[in-house]
Amino acid sequence: MTRIRTRVAIVGAGPAGLLLSHLLAKAGIESVVIDQRTREEIETTIRAGILEQGTVDILESSGASTRVRTVGNRHDGIELRFEGEGHRIDFPSVTGRAVWLYPQHEVLKDLVAVRLAEGQDLRLGVTAERVEDAETDHPRVIAVDADGQLLEIEAEFVVGSDGSRSVVRPAVTESATGGYFREYPFAWFGILCEAPPSSKELIYSNSANGFALISQRNATVQRMYFQCDPEVDPASYSEEQLWHELQVRVPGTTLNQGPIFQRDVLRFRSFVAHELLRGRVALIGDAAHTVPPTGAKGMNLAIADVIVLERALRALLLENDARLIEAFPETALNRIWKAQHFSWWMTSMLHVAPDATDFDRKRQIGELRSVVESEAGKTYLAEAYTGWPLPQAG
Ligand SMILES: Cc1cc2nc3c(=O)[nH]c(=O)nc-3n(C[C@H](O)[C@H](O)[C@H](O)COP(=O)(O)OP(=O)(O)OC[C@H]3O[C@@H](n4cnc5c(N)ncnc54)[C@H](O)[C@@H]3O)c2cc1C
Repeated sequence: MTRIRTRVAIVGAGPAGLLLSHLLAKAGIESVVIDQRTREEIETTIRAGILEQGTVDILESSGASTRVRTVGNRHDGIELRFEGEGHRIDFPSVTGRAVWLYPQHEVLKDLVAVRLAEGQDLRLGVTAERVEDAETDHPRVIAVDADGQLLEIEAEFVVGSDGSRSVVRPAVTESATGGYFREYPFAWFGILCEAPPSSKELIYSNSANGFALISQRNATVQRMYFQCDPEVDPASYSEEQLWHELQVRVPGTTLNQGPIFQRDVLRFRSFVAHELLRGRVALIGDAAHTVPPTGAKGMNLAIADVIVLERALRALLLENDARLIEAFPETALNRIWKAQHFSWWMTSMLHVAPDATDFDRKRQIGELRSVVESEAGKTYLAEAYTGWPLPQAG
């Protein structure tokens, strides 16, 4: 067994773990990050795409990404489409803020590059098995490397940023699944295709046939989703059928079609762990919570957790002041539950449940109208979508 010591042991090199190690290093706090995946896997997995303005600001101001505004695209609004008509929600006019379309794997490329350039101890292909001694001053991560060798990392603090199947979670909640949970009776069928964009901004479409999201990647590659049964086999659709399923869900607009080169099914879950902190172990990002993707909150919420936790770790490890770490769960949960509500609300307003009655459909249209025909409705959606203010750095 190899034994190492560090100040903060971070399990998971997703957006949360990598940004946390970056901000800690800037504050002079050493950390070790481990991840079970290879660099190539981390940098090529297609996931989230929308960054809140606060996320962009922190990536830029911390030096984590210089490409987000040049490679990414600023979006000043979205379209809500229902009954064959589009209704644009303009973000700057109601909130003064915007979002950026910059895929998660590009964020990860930036973060991996900057961490390696700065000599970060980033160990890929290393799988954590469990965390021990959470309630002591020296919690330990027990892991195994790609060659099957045991690795023990002793730290002053351990962070679980290891995603929705977190192995750190049991050390905090005392069970692998301990949390508030909701499952939805539908999923998203996602495709990547080679085609020009079908619209400049994202279209969130409610139709009698179900929901569709028309999103973009760049001038030649597009990302689109349609509501499907969670049990569907992605290989069971022909390309022609996929285009049909998408097109019938966006009546009133015509999609630009092209070869589909990736397809996946994304299940919908809402989850918040019962505890986010135990002794000297904390959970952040998808390890602490998951949201259905309709509100584009998953990665942004992970980044917001990082900002709260990093400030608390600085106070704890540099000034021996435990007040912010003790307040970490309450501070983080304030935003987490607002994001849970927003993600649930967008999901239930836009999707058609399998058991929806005529009453449910008519009520849903009434709900959509009460958003697009009201300044207050548009403002709530825009504030939540572009992101509530983050705690100030420093
Ligand atoms: C398939 C999928 C598609 C998604 N699509 C969207 C979307 O379209 N829009 C949206 O807003 N959000 C989406 N999300 C959500 C968003 O991607 C997440 O909220 C975001 O990745 C959370 O970041 P994180 O750093 O907390 O966790 P993750 O990005 O999940 O990173 C966790 C890391 O921990 C590592 N890890 C896990 N277990 C171990 C272990 N035992 N030992 C070592 N390392 C470990 C993993 O390899 C991974 O690199 C999607 C999520 C998934 C899973």
